Parts: sequence; structure tokens; C-alpha cells
Amino acid sequence: MNTRRYRVTVNGRVQGVGFRPFVYRLASEAQLTGWVNNNSEGVCIEVEGEQSSLTQFLTRLREETPPLAQIVHFHQQEMATQAEPEFCIHDSERGERANTLIPPDAATCVDCLGELFDPANRRFHYPFTNCTNCGPRFTIVAGIPYDRPLTSMACFPLCAECRSEYDDPGDRRFHAQPNACAKCGPQIRLCDGAGKQWPDPLAKLVEMLAAGAVAAVRGLGGFHLVVDAKNQKAVKALRARKGREEKPFALMAPDLDAVRRFCRVDAEEGRLLQEPCHPIVLLDALPKHGLAASIAPASTRLGFMLPYTPLHHLLLRDNFDALVMTSGNLSEEPVITSNEDALERLNGLADIFLLHNREILQPCDDSIVQRVAGQTQIIRRARGFVPLPIFLTQPLPEPILACGGQFKNVFALSRGAEVFSSQHIGDMDQVATFQFFKRSIDHFMQVLEVSPMLAVCDRHPRYIASAWARGQSGLPVFEVYHHHAHLASVMAENGVDQPCIGIILDGSGYGPGDAIWGGEVLVGGLADFERFAWLQPMMLPGSAMAIRQPWRLALAALFLAFGPDAEQMDLPFMADLQPQDRTLIFRLMEKDLNCPSTSSAGRLFDAASALLGLCTHTSYEAQAAMYLEAAVDPAETGSYPVDPDPSSGPLDTVTLIRALVDDIGAGLPQGVIASRFHRSLAALFVGAARAARQQSQINTVALSGGVFQNRTFTTLLIQALRRSAFDVLTHTKVPCNDGGLALGQIAIADAWLRMGRTPESR
Ligand code: ZN
Ligand code: ZN
Ligand code: FE
Repeated sequence: MNTRRYRVTVNGRVQGVGFRPFVYRLASEAQLTGWVNNNSEGVCIEVEGEQSSLTQFLTRLREETPPLAQIVHFHQQEMATQAEPEFCIHDSERGERANTLIPPDAATCVDCLGELFDPANRRFHYPFTNCTNCGPRFTIVAGIPYDRPLTSMACFPLCAECRSEYDDPGDRRFHAQPNACAKCGPQIRLCDGAGKQWPDPLAKLVEMLAAGAVAAVRGLGGFHLVVDAKNQKAVKALRARKGREEKPFALMAPDLDAVRRFCRVDAEEGRLLQEPCHPIVLLDALPKHGLAASIAPASTRLGFMLPYTPLHHLLLRDNFDALVMTSGNLSEEPVITSNEDALERLNGLADIFLLHNREILQPCDDSIVQRVAGQTQIIRRARGFVPLPIFLTQPLPEPILACGGQFKNVFALSRGAEVFSSQHIGDMDQVATFQFFKRSIDHFMQVLEVSPMLAVCDRHPRYIASAWARGQSGLPVFEVYHHHAHLASVMAENGVDQPCIGIILDGSGYGPGDAIWGGEVLVGGLADFERFAWLQPMMLPGSAMAIRQPWRLALAALFLAFGPDAEQMDLPFMADLQPQDRTLIFRLMEKDLNCPSTSSAGRLFDAASALLGLCTHTSYEAQAAMYLEAAVDPAETGSYPVDPDPSSGPLDTVTLIRALVDDIGAGLPQGVIASRFHRSLAALFVGAARAARQQSQINTVALSGGVFQNRTFTTLLIQALRRSAFDVLTHTKVPCNDGGLALGQIAIADAWLRMGRTPESR
């Protein structure tokens, strides 16, 4: 007999995902002996047996990995045989750092779903069914090691049946920390704001939603506010009560077929919807989708997700084609997680509350993704992604805390070569968000067993996260420019450390000399950068007011292109303006009163949207730009004259604005003009990139900033850059918006430390 022994080490996402029982099962089936354990590197296996069985085992090991596992590296070597009696699972060694990895939450797996709807199964209709391949993780963890006593499942002692599953290496629930059943696990209840309860919570909830009620439903990472998506009255009531005028609501449909009834879903989008992270996927709505019009006014896109907990499945299946599932919070505050907070703060907002008693320890919003130019773009990185690390090319010399930006805040903590980006924290101008920021930093430090030696923050004088970092005694601080962090972020997630040409387009960020940047072509790397070109600065009449009132920006664009004479112009969008408002803005601009200048690309999109009369007032961020993109006529291929060969310095937008205004005057359709605007702006930046290449000999272009969430513009720009033979780097691991800043901040701080720069001590 040809008996051999191999040692196999497997790295990647292989812990807390049922990898050891999977190995045990394969080894037993192939009648091999040996053992498997977790160590600091990943999973280590020794297997012994017949060569043919070993070969089969090794093939299956790579091809049949558990759903949540991901093998990054695989190594095998031959060993001396030992002739053990059996194959067994060894405990992880105590004190190993391996124990400190917490997996992200994962959507209900196919096996659990089968049990959920099988009347013969003991978990039939049990809303907290889960196993090693699915269920809550990050959101129920209080501390490390990741073991039941340190999760919110600690107060639910396992019943005998659940215990035997948990202890059986051959069972799908072996060491599944949140394992539970109706006998021993968490329960749901339904009540109204006055405390009245109903005996059959789900049936009553379905009945009330169908009748048009607004429900608050406790989920995995927080509460959702829920209404029937086909009930226009209910959707409108939700908008009115939440004070959310127009911002699109997220939707949940029972399955992929149901989503296809409302949206176009290609193969890749279908796959994304069903990934274990179950994100909200932004999709093109079908023309007559039949959902309430007020779900996403004036938008051609709908954000759909599939049910990711058993409770969601029970709520939707056979009951609704689609439900609105929006974050259960007040305006822009963090999502509410506790029953008490929901009953108190959502009282009057929700008619009915579906509660449960498995505490949510880490708030975590639904993640949002979309497909752009053949790639998946993460717009909001939270549930299902966090706390998976992003890997840098080499370990950092010391742990660094990056504080992120002011809006869409995400912080990050590094450990070795791993960067742990937090879940989406939110807009820091809310006190509750700032509290959430501080609590989450403490939690990340605890579960990663890392104390930062250094903080890095945005140089903005008034960002709250930056002020907080500057106030931490004993923690030295590096301060970095906003757009440099954007550039470094896209470089870091692509593992690039050679200098690049960065096209960084966003709403605004703090630049040298108190400047407000946002339409920049940078040349530089992780350590340093130069500003090569930028959009010709435009005024922001009334400063921050101009962001909510794009009609002000339209007037500023006219002022830039035509000077004071523009006051006499007559464009359709002006008909809705009060004459005195128009006069006031022109006086402000002429006297340069409260009119800071900005090179922001986001503001130029806003101006174009308002000039076309598409959006003159906004109620949510990026609304005007979204309306402009939605208006684009894809059949239109014309564009405005732009300097094909610009030099370093301001990029000419005057010619572009004049041509656009000519088209408006000529009465061309909005869709044609919107298309020409997108195409021209892309051409302008490709020209700038070519000029930067000529001067720097750099051929890689890195794209970052919130403007790249615009699919039309991003696709045009990438295509044009590739036609000009550029290598293009984009974001696929962290958001291109300010949610990606923290990763870039860490990469810059690391580069500076390596150069021997010392941070400022406090
Ligand atoms: Zn499962
Ligand atoms: Zn049980
Ligand atoms: Fe930004």
C-alpha cells in the first residue's frame, strides 16, 4: 500500500467559517487519518492515507470550500507517516491571535432556508435559524475571543439538541456560536407604541403592512422602517413622518425572480444580490415597475436587496412582492439598535414594532453596491463586509488609527498588513454619530487587540474627527490633505506604491491655503503630490447654501462664463426664481461677498443640473448630479469643444458652459445636453491626464472621489483613458466617496513613517 502524509497550510478567510468541520468531513469521507487546527497563519492540516485518496482530498479541499471561506494561499509538503487511528479536530492553541478574528454577518444559507420552510424540521418557521455557514457575527460580538459567552447569545443556554449539534464535528452547526432553536433561542414579539401585544407576531405584522401600516422591524444590524412598496399612501406616510422628502428608499424582494419583475438584473448583479453579504444593489428600474412612484422620485435606479435573515424570509415569502426597508433612525442619525430606543424614538413614526431579544451590539447598516464599467463599486461598506480587512503589500511598522472625513465617516485601524475599515459611521455633524464613532473605535481596538501608536486625520480645521484626533493626549497626529487621501486610498487598495496621475473628483475637501478643492488632477504617490490641473474655480454664492440650492450654482456658472452681463440672460430655469434672489446673488458675486471659490467637480454637475432646470433645490446629497445623470440620452454622442491639449493649471470650463447655454437657448432636449455635458467633462479630464503623462512620464491614472458614483461619467472616462493607453486604477474594496478616505490616510502615514517623518506630538 502506498501510504503518504502531507502537511497543508491554508491562509485567507478560513477561521470562524466552518473550515475545520469541512476538512474533517472531507478527510473522513476519504478515510484519511491525521488532524486539523487553527493557528496564527490560518488552518493547518496533516493528512495521511492512500495517494489516490489524498489527491481526491486535496482537490475537494480547494474546490468545495465552505460558502464563507476564501482561500488566499495554499501550501503543501510531504511528511513522515505517523499511522494515527483516526482524523480529529484539534482545538486552536490558546492565546493565538487567530482567535481574535471576527467574521462579518452572513445571509441565511440555502440549508438553513430549507429547514426554515420544512414543516417536519424542528426549526420550521424559527426566525433565528443559523449555522456555521450563515447568521449573525460582527453585530452580536461584545469582545474576544469570538465565543458564545462574549456574544449577545450568552443569555440563551443551548438546549440538549442544539448543544449536540454544536459539539459534533460532523454537524453543520459545529461551533456555530449563535446556534439556537425555538426551544432555547431568541424570540420575536409584536407591540404598538402603547405596549399592546399580539399572540402571532408575524401574521399580524403581515396583515398590518398589507393594510398600509409603517412598521419598525428589528433586524441584524439595526431597525428598519418598513412599508409595502406597492402602497403609494404608505410610502408617502413614511416620507412625511421621517421628514425625508425625496431621497430614494431601499427595497427588499422575496427572491431574485421578484427583483427581476421590477429591475433589469444582469448575471453579475444577480450574483451580487445573492452573495453572503447580501448588499443593496443599485439597479436600472424597468419602465413600468408598478411600485409606488414616491420610492425613488425622478430616479431611474432602484436599490434592492434580498432577505438576509430568516425573519425577512418569513415576512416576505408569499406575502409581499417588495417592501421598503429603510434605516430605522431619525434623519441622518445612526441606525437604532435597541428595543427601548426604537419604542421611544420611533414612536409616532412607526405604527407597530416587531421586536426581538437578541441584542444588537454593533450597529451596522445595509451595504450598498453597484456595477460600474464592468466592476463592482462599494458605495456604503457595512453589513457583510465589516470587519474583513483590506490587505496592504507590507506590514506597517506600528498600528495606526485613521479618523476619516466629516461626511460618510469611516475610520480605520491597522494591524500588521491588515487595515480594518469600520462600518459606515455617518455624518459627523450629528452628536449621536460622533458618539457612535468613539464607541466603535473603542470596540475595534478591543477586538483587534490593537492600540494605535499614531493617529492620522484630515487637515480640515473644522472636521469633527480631526478635532477629536488633535485632542487625544499622548497620541501623535499626522494631518493629510483630503484629496491626497483619496489618491492614496485607491493606490493602497490596488497595491500600488509607484507615483500615479490622480483624477480626484468630489464635492469638496480642504486644500492648501484654505482652498476648497474637488476637481483635481494630482501627480504623486503615497508620500507626496503636486496639483497638476484643476477645474477653473467657480463661486459658491452663499457658501454652504449653494450646495442645497443649485440654482445659485447655475448663476455662478453663468457669471463665470459670461461675467456680470449674465444677469440679463433669460433661461428657462430662471422663470422659477424670485427676481430679487437673482439680483442678490449677482451683487454677492460682483462684490465677492460670502462667495468662496471652489474647483469642485460635484458643484459643476450641480450647476449643469440647475441650468437645465432638472434640479434647482436639493433635499439630499448629490441629488442634482443624480438627476442630471438620469436625464442623459444614451443615443446622443455629441460633445462640446474642449481644449484637447491643456497644460498644467486651471482647466477651461468657460467654453463648456457657454456651449451648454447655447444648446439650452436653441431648445435642445435636456437628455441631449446632459449627455454632451458628461462627454465633454470626461474629454477635458482625459486631455489633462495626457498632459500630465507628457510631463511626468507616468502612465497610471487613479480615480477617486464621490463623483465616480456617476456611472455614465465614470464609464466614459475609463473608456477614453483606455483608448489613450492609460492603466486605470479604480476602487473596488472601499468606497470612492469619503468612506474610503481612512484607508488612504493610513497609507500616507505609513509612507511618511518609512521616510522618517515624525508626527506632531500632543
Ligand atoms: Zn445556515
Ligand atoms: Zn435549542
Ligand atoms: Fe472627498
